[in-house]
Amino acid sequence: MPGFELFGEKEKKQVNDVLETGVLMRYGFDGMRNGQWKAKEFENALSKRMQCKYTHLVSSGTAALTVALASAGVGAGDEVLMPTFTFVASFESILALGAVPILVDVDATLTLNPDAVKKAITSKTKAVMPVHMCGSMADLKALKTICDSHNLLLVEDACQAIGGSYEGKPLGTYGDLGCFSFDFVKTITSGEGGAVVTNNKNYYVNADHYSDHGHDHIGSDRGAEEHPFLGYNYRISELHAAVGIAQLERLDEFLQRQQQYYTIVREALSTISEITFREVPVGGIENYSFLSFFMPTQELAEKAHKALGAEGVDACFYWFANNWHYYKKWDHLTNKTSLGKLPKEVQEQLPDYTKSDFSLSDKWVGRNISCLIKLSWTTEEVEERAQKMVETIKGLLN
Ligand SMILES: *Cc1c(COP(=O)(O)O)cnc(C)c1O
Repeated sequence: MPGFELFGEKEKKQVNDVLETGVLMRYGFDGMRNGQWKAKEFENALSKRMQCKYTHLVSSGTAALTVALASAGVGAGDEVLMPTFTFVASFESILALGAVPILVDVDATLTLNPDAVKKAITSKTKAVMPVHMCGSMADLKALKTICDSHNLLLVEDACQAIGGSYEGKPLGTYGDLGCFSFDFVKTITSGEGGAVVTNNKNYYVNADHYSDHGHDHIGSDRGAEEHPFLGYNYRISELHAAVGIAQLERLDEFLQRQQQYYTIVREALSTISEITFREVPVGGIENYSFLSFFMPTQELAEKAHKALGAEGVDACFYWFANNWHYYKKWDHLTNKTSLGKLPKEVQEQLPDYTKSDFSLSDKWVGRNISCLIKLSWTTEEVEERAQKMVETIKGLLN
């Protein structure tokens, strides 16, 4: 997945445009910038590629999630439904607003299970935030139906699945709002950075103001701008946006290469009848950043993960035991460990996750192994790797 593997001349040229003017900020300094508006250019290019009306860049994917929720009015005490299998950014972005992260089971899609979502809805629920983990998506149609009938926001975390699609729509643009990350290990990177995409003008304008101290961005004198509401600073810099422009131009090339390598590994693993693959909802196309499969039992998954590592097959992950991605290791959330006092609403409403039953998630994540698809491999390396994986796993099953 990581776009940094193919960092090159295009990226350097873009950054150099900014260094030539010395204007590192995305707003103002019109006279000095020699017509260079990298953040605006990246936003326009992203809107075009994602076939959506509006894009607003921010400083990270985590910031994008917070800004997306804030721009749609999510605040203290509102409950946001999120999966047990994701990245810690999901609950961080919710907590940042004083809202309450409600963990919900995942299934064979490795993302939100629609029935579990339905069961978790209360009068305080304001949004559902599926996370398109490891390159594939949640059952967005089912989630949208639930959201529409309960008047809830659908906010897609597409940080790990940029370039994938569902029913012909780029991931991130099916729900009310979508979020991307351009951190250093994502499919395309700007070093640090993120984006909020939407077709809703009101949310877009709110995101634009909120991420820059509430500035209304009217006129060309920042000092004279009004602040229609409170905001914060989640701005991206021109240097970061410049790298992003070059990487976005290469997105489709990256996706094509990921699909090619993914297919080689998948076809090889398909010869093992005991292995099943992660379920992709009907109408969905992955971005092929990972290949995720299930072993017959949790014990075999643990063994296969260890054996693959020992054989030198790197970048295969067993998320069930991972510190960042699965609820079992989120002790700081479960124990509400924070430096200062948490908002009253969070203290009162956060469920006691030591008592939760996430056996559905455990059943799938416990048997899952996800292998990163690297852009820097050669076809020969992928073929060799696929063969080694097959031999290693077959050895365990005999
Ligand atoms: C990377 C990631 C984020 C956060 O992005 P940052 O840019 O690192 O803040 C959020 N959600 C998911 C699923 C991610 O993988």
